Amino acid sequence: MKSESAIRDAMAQLGESLFARGYAVGGAGNLSARLPDGSILVTPTNSSLGRLDPARLSKVSPSGDLLGGDKPSKEAPFHLALYRADAGLGAVCHLHSTYLTALSCLNGLDTEDVLRPFTPYYVMRVGQLALLPYHKPGSPAIATDLTARLAMSPESKAFLLANHGSVVLGNDIFEAINNAEELEETAKLYFIMQNQSIRYLTPGEVEELRPKATAKA
Ligand code: ZN
Repeated sequence: MKSESAIRDAMAQLGESLFARGYAVGGAGNLSARLPDGSILVTPTNSSLGRLDPARLSKVSPSGDLLGGDKPSKEAPFHLALYRADAGLGAVCHLHSTYLTALSCLNGLDTEDVLRPFTPYYVMRVGQLALLPYHKPGSPAIATDLTARLAMSPESKAFLLANHGSVVLGNDIFEAINNAEELEETAKLYFIMQNQSIRYLTPGEVEELRPKATAKA
């Protein structure tokens, strides 16, 4: 695992990149990463991903005690719940990115898998995208729903919060953000192809892309 200062710098640089490319606007979205000492680095409340100061990122214990930096995002509790639920989790990227948020506002979605696979990278990076019910931002129910869903399908890498946005996991902050970008791209393609006849991947094609059960103990 990288050093704390390297993770701080990476979080600020990647946040700026997400912001510059329109994946985050204003103060929306938050990032977190587990540090080598087991504490968690979270983007501060009222911060913008485009202007993060590596030295002022919130450092919190897994139970939420502030250990340093600014006060954490009000969405930090669901990040922390995911780290407590999955000891191997390295980072979380939560975005209100345009196409995923648009998707999260539609009626009639398949709550088990919102995006039926049509590209291999979506299957390899994200696997499956469950839709979780709407709760107001900051509600403890978001954490409860996320951890319950993760317990049901521990291989899950991404979740869609209804009328809100995405929550994407990774082994480190680079992987979490790569996964989040792949997911947003998939949602964008989905909207671009509306009213077109999509050739979805067949069940056999999806199956051969999924990590084998033995690959992740
Ligand atoms: Zn949010």
